[in-house]
Amino acid sequence: MLSSMKSPATQIFQGRQISPGMAEGKIHIHRILYGLLDMDESIESREADDEVSRLDNATLKISDDLCALASRVEKEIDSRLAEVFSVHQLILEDDSLKEELRKEIVSNLVTAGSAVKTVFLRWEKRFLLMESQISKDKGDDMRDLSIRLRNALAGITIHSLEEIPPGCVLATKRLLPSDTIFLRSRDTAAVLLEFGTFGSHVALFTREMGLPCISGLRHLITTVPDGSNALVDADAATATIDPDEQQINRFRKKVERNAAAFRLALDHTFTPAQTKDGVVITVLANIGSDSDTRLAMENGAEGVGLYRTEKAYIGRLHPPNDEELYQEMLHTLAPAKGKPVCVRLLDIGADKPLPFMKFMAESNPSLGCRGIRLLRRYPELLDTQLRTVLKLAKEFDIQILVPMVTLPDDMAIVKDRLSQISSEMDINMIPKLGAMIETPGAALSASEIAKYSDFLSFGTNDLTQYTFAADRENAEVEAYFNHAADAIFRLMKIVHDDVPEMPLSLCGELAGRSEHISKILECGIKTLSIAPPLIPGIKESIRESYSTGSPR
Ligand code: PEP
Ligand code: MG
Repeated sequence: MLSSMKSPATQIFQGRQISPGMAEGKIHIHRILYGLLDMDESIESREADDEVSRLDNATLKISDDLCALASRVEKEIDSRLAEVFSVHQLILEDDSLKEELRKEIVSNLVTAGSAVKTVFLRWEKRFLLMESQISKDKGDDMRDLSIRLRNALAGITIHSLEEIPPGCVLATKRLLPSDTIFLRSRDTAAVLLEFGTFGSHVALFTREMGLPCISGLRHLITTVPDGSNALVDADAATATIDPDEQQINRFRKKVERNAAAFRLALDHTFTPAQTKDGVVITVLANIGSDSDTRLAMENGAEGVGLYRTEKAYIGRLHPPNDEELYQEMLHTLAPAKGKPVCVRLLDIGADKPLPFMKFMAESNPSLGCRGIRLLRRYPELLDTQLRTVLKLAKEFDIQILVPMVTLPDDMAIVKDRLSQISSEMDINMIPKLGAMIETPGAALSASEIAKYSDFLSFGTNDLTQYTFAADRENAEVEAYFNHAADAIFRLMKIVHDDVPEMPLSLCGELAGRSEHISKILECGIKTLSIAPPLIPGIKESIRESYSTGSPR
């Protein structure tokens, strides 16, 4: 709670929401002291072997620490998040990285710390130059590991966030994945970042922890004094520093209203969401892990509308075989048993640094071999998924969704493989097959794509990116990325007009924005698939809307 009620100079910062929610507290500025470790030391050639073994010892120590951290995160947060640290361990074991570090010490005659700094920075830059968010996250991973290793080499054992004041609003330039674990143990109220994107590991952690977080707050830590009072409204992406009494009262009233509205929405969430003119809209969940599925069911999801299956592939040295994939999917979907579930085929591209795809490189990966294009190039990846989903169909009410469809042929090929594999497996009830509409080209070819599809699902995140030629992860072009622009609604409306009988759903982030529900329903969309925490609120918004946009 804030103590001082009077303040001479209120400052309001506007950023981007990373994780929703509202909180108040005192600002704690966290300056990252990488600079202290950046000593560029030369060594004599006779010292090189000692430096190499110092590095080996530090690597072993970090590997043990990561193991402990992974099990702590698994217990305290989520097993999916623990994988971040398992991936860090895999990176440390990478032979080419080890060799590059050894060479840096021996050829350039520098200390182990200096070699770590140079080589990890080189790798970080390589990842940051790649287009996908997963690659950019790998950049974060490299920075995180570099600091850990240099700390270990310098004999520093305490984590810099271990001693932040409990209940503070943490303000910092950026956070690293391993930082976030300390935020929970210190009961941090909220996090304000100068840099950080919605798709990063840190964003994932903060959302999982229900920790309000805003990023894009440039110059925050040089402008705001340590210890200032802060009101963080991540829903509106604003941070009010040194608020006056009126602002504090307004803020607290909004917090109370939100809490009451959520309790009310939760009471009704197991009743179907019907518009004012009597149209029932199905509300499903977007999930990626078993904890998402569990939360979705608790919040009244009527099924799973988008199961992002990438998690089963990321951090593996080889793609999963039928049995591994089956076990992973079974575990993830278990809480949704008895409800319809829609499994999206692997949506990964040549730009993603999957260890078993190292050989692929494209100069413009988001316009390259991603989604279904990659599956067409590697049919065994497609077949493994189809076999697994067909096996799951014996226990679940399953549908299949194909990512990044642009040509009718993309669907024709999957449909054909699905029917061949079904007959090989003696399965008569073939799951329904849907195409994701994520590019303007796909939207304008809907009537052709529909010939091979049982339903269509709009992926407005990518549809916006490709319509406005604006990278969805690049803060610099954020102003061009407007998923609620008229152009997006027009594309959806064209699809509905071209294939009026086709069931249409929406699984992009736009579906979770209550202020746009009427316009979405006006495009003929009858199914929404959204993040689990948003389900009760979106059902309430549907109840207040007309399926035609306005009363007729
Ligand atoms: C989308 O593009 O809107 C979508 C739902 O898919 P993803 O966010 O996984 O690319
Ligand atoms: Mg997409």
